[in-house]
Amino acid sequence: MDPTFTLADPTGAEQYPALPPTTGHFIGGEFRAGSSNSRIDVINPATETVITTVVAGTAADVDDAVAAATIAQRGWGRTTPRHRSEILHRIADVVADNRAALAALESWNTGKPTSVAEDDISSAIDTFRFMAGAARAITSMAGGQYAAGNTSLILREPVGVVGVITPWNYPLLMAAWKIAPILAGGNSVVLKPSEQTPLTTLRLAELLADIVPVGVLNIVTGFGSDVGNRIAAHPDISLVALTGSVRSGQSVAETAGMTLKRVHLELGGKAPVLVLPDADLKAVARGVRVSGFWNSGQECGAACRIIVHESVAQQLVDHLVREVGTLTVGPPSGGIDIDIGPLVSRAHYERVVSFLARAKQAGARTAIGGHTFDGPGYYIAPTVLVDVTRDSEAATSEAFGPIVSVETYTDLEEAIERANATQYGLAASVWTTDAGHAMRIPTELDFGTVWVNSHLVLANEVPWGGFKGSGYGRDLSLYALEDYTRTKHVMFNHEWNPPLTEQHH
Ligand code: NAD
Repeated sequence: MDPTFTLADPTGAEQYPALPPTTGHFIGGEFRAGSSNSRIDVINPATETVITTVVAGTAADVDDAVAAATIAQRGWGRTTPRHRSEILHRIADVVADNRAALAALESWNTGKPTSVAEDDISSAIDTFRFMAGAARAITSMAGGQYAAGNTSLILREPVGVVGVITPWNYPLLMAAWKIAPILAGGNSVVLKPSEQTPLTTLRLAELLADIVPVGVLNIVTGFGSDVGNRIAAHPDISLVALTGSVRSGQSVAETAGMTLKRVHLELGGKAPVLVLPDADLKAVARGVRVSGFWNSGQECGAACRIIVHESVAQQLVDHLVREVGTLTVGPPSGGIDIDIGPLVSRAHYERVVSFLARAKQAGARTAIGGHTFDGPGYYIAPTVLVDVTRDSEAATSEAFGPIVSVETYTDLEEAIERANATQYGLAASVWTTDAGHAMRIPTELDFGTVWVNSHLVLANEVPWGGFKGSGYGRDLSLYALEDYTRTKHVMFNHEWNPPLTEQHH
């Protein structure tokens, strides 16, 4: 039975308790108009109305930002970890002081439910706090005499100016995931937010103008093809970090290759959820209700591909239909009860609608959901697809919407192979009550994160990032801080006889 989802509070989306931020590029500690008159509409996805417009930046604007960042980095990179830590704590404080306003602005621009936006802001605060601590606790191999008569010392240095390109699904949180370790490491930043969701990043720049030294944090708004591409190409940027699609990752890595700058990529995913016959099926369904549909499924680690043993498949689908049927769809103005908001844009909505149509054409059936709503707003009902065949598009391609597919398996080893046989390698989960399986299967799954009996639980202490087509480099944790620093070996010769030239051999 397919309960029809209805929209909660569809008209409330018109009123919103947030103000748009200053627009313009934030370069050298001030907002600047930039070199182009061209502007980009920023749309409220719940009403399809224009909130404001931002500047469509150019390569020349990136060059200005890099010039400011290069000068600022020289001083910033020489500050003590303690000093940078104090600034990161002040950033966390100011984000916390503006928590409600930032969450409201994020919801306004992305359509995401209040609960998701509030979680984003809380997580961002914790990222700044964690990196404030981590900045003072970097370790490396012990100094010592590794060559006779010489003492070695390992220095951890900033890499320089870091270029950052963020996506639209978690605009402020992804900015925080990059900015915090980059600043902690003594680097300066030139960041381009998604052209669709630049508002909280611009608000952050406003809030930090008096906290972060001039030129250390720079924001250039605009399209990937112009601003993003110049960030990847700029010779004075030492490392470019992108969170986005596989295609953008390929383009950035290719362009970055021309200057051999370092690349850090967090790309797409299609997380398998491997359900063994001994799993607690109610727990799986409760887990997928949240982790398959969080942020309307616009989540790179979403629990979107269930691979379940055939003997318990029908039981699991029954639990799933019951759990998913309790989700409430509506605009963020509907308050804390809303679970599923609109998708971020018309283009993305159309992409997901056609993904669904192709899945149905290929023989998949909707156990629940599968429909859209009369506008305005880019809403798609939370959907569970069954009878999904292995290797089909529905099983292996990222939908990035509120869609969870269910496929069955007979043989466990074949199921593990199937889970691994995609271009992605970001995240996976295994659901079992058998301790042996719980220990062994994660070692055989080719994914950067594997959860056992849960999904999509993150913490700032542990790394996040993928393998294969999901990219390389790690966000969060000390591993991110390592990614945004470079090691230098300094060797002290302390045997003055024989002379250096002879001793060399
Ligand atoms: P996208 O790749 O379209 O855009 C991401 C950013 O890259 C935007 O700022 C965009 O302007 C820019 N960009 C696009 N083309 C570019 C180019 N050629 N050169 C430089 N910059 C370019 O992705 P999106 O639609 O904003 O985000 C959705 C994607 O992000 C999904 O595939 C999702 O899985 C992925 N994602 C991954 C993670 C993760 O942690 N792995 C987190 C969030 C989102």
